Amino acid sequence: MKIVLVSTYEMGHDPFGLASPRAWLEGAGHQVRVFDLAVERMEEEAIREAEMIAFYLPMHTATRLAAPVIERVKRMNPAARLVAYGLYAPLNEAMLRDLGVGAIAGGEFETSLVKLARGEAIEPVCLDRLRFIVPDRSDRDGQYAMLVSGGEKRRVAYTEASRGCKHLCRHCPIVPVYQGKFRVVDADVVLADIRQQVARGAAHVTFGDPDFFNGPAHAIRIVRALRQEFPRVSYDATIKIEHLLRHRKLLDTLRETGCAFIVSAAESLDDEVLARLEKNHTRRDFFEAVELTRAAGLTLQPTFIAFTPWTTIEGYCDFLRTIAELGLVENVAPVQLVLRLLVTPGSRLLQLPDLDVEPFDAKSLVYPWKHRDPAVDALGSRAFQTVARLQKENRSRAEIFREIAALVSMPLENFDLAPRTASPYLNEPWYC
Ligand code: SF4
Repeated sequence: MKIVLVSTYEMGHDPFGLASPRAWLEGAGHQVRVFDLAVERMEEEAIREAEMIAFYLPMHTATRLAAPVIERVKRMNPAARLVAYGLYAPLNEAMLRDLGVGAIAGGEFETSLVKLARGEAIEPVCLDRLRFIVPDRSDRDGQYAMLVSGGEKRRVAYTEASRGCKHLCRHCPIVPVYQGKFRVVDADVVLADIRQQVARGAAHVTFGDPDFFNGPAHAIRIVRALRQEFPRVSYDATIKIEHLLRHRKLLDTLRETGCAFIVSAAESLDDEVLARLEKNHTRRDFFEAVELTRAAGLTLQPTFIAFTPWTTIEGYCDFLRTIAELGLVENVAPVQLVLRLLVTPGSRLLQLPDLDVEPFDAKSLVYPWKHRDPAVDALGSRAFQTVARLQKENRSRAEIFREIAALVSMPLENFDLAPRTASPYLNEPWYC
């Protein structure tokens, strides 16, 4: 069967979600073409000839971008079977079916796609433990985000050592699909995936696991093997604050094995907001994680949901002041100063009695909400526009931070915004 896999956007990486199912489907005897629309255009002929076209939807932005692409593909090839797969496919099942998508493959989607290609029926979510095979990245040479570190740019490999998550944070889109479960990709497959990307020039690896320390022994086995085979290759991973504290003994190992930075979804510095999100960490825990990672010689890059229905102007000022006081201005991507809470379908946020949302909006794919204080929403949208404008002008993180602080008349004379250490980062500015 001729199959096309389409990705619209995955944060500047070469998607595992294209390369892995490609290997499975080719292994089952199908002819597979993949298109990552973040770096290339679809070939019309391939779309017209395909019998099955599957759209990879790992995140909110990807799903929004996919809707008009699905419409276009339908016009080009009305006979093809349309499939949506990845985390956001089951969450947006109703919208996708309205668009003409016939099958939804969420969770561990590789076997579901193989079954669909055989003409079998599937469930919208599969959480089977798969024996992964090495993703097929042959002929893939798109220009993706680079690691910028100390004036040097490094080509970045992307892989996943696990999917899903064992935690149940209220706002997290993984929770309604994985329900507190995570699944590992076998270490030899992860290492082979890295090896094929290093062979093409990658010198840094991004582990895209929702949380690298859901299975700390698995993660450490992989980074030790990575260090042994490629002593010059660095990496980054996402690890929650709670895990940084619980597994503090492993932080030295992360540094010794080449960890360039750790992303951690701090979300808020307000204990009330953190309790509502059920993040299982406090403001104090965040401070401790900053100290622990610094002491271990690691760079922490916290991410935040700056605007929630519970954010206050004073709370936002405190957030900015604390980032400056902790010397983290260069560690926080500017977009993290302005992100707004997304209430996605199936979200556990919808169970909160004090959260008023409007009916689901099929265009933005969220339940919109308004802050009870219109001044907070006005600040949020001014701050968002400011960051978008200044990023286009290539302004530095410190400059953008100053402009955001000026919106709330926050004096910064007492703060040295210069970084304590040079903070490496991926030059893909937008995360959502
Ligand atoms: S720890 Fe992270 S990935 Fe896991 S449920 Fe919470 S927000 Fe989601």
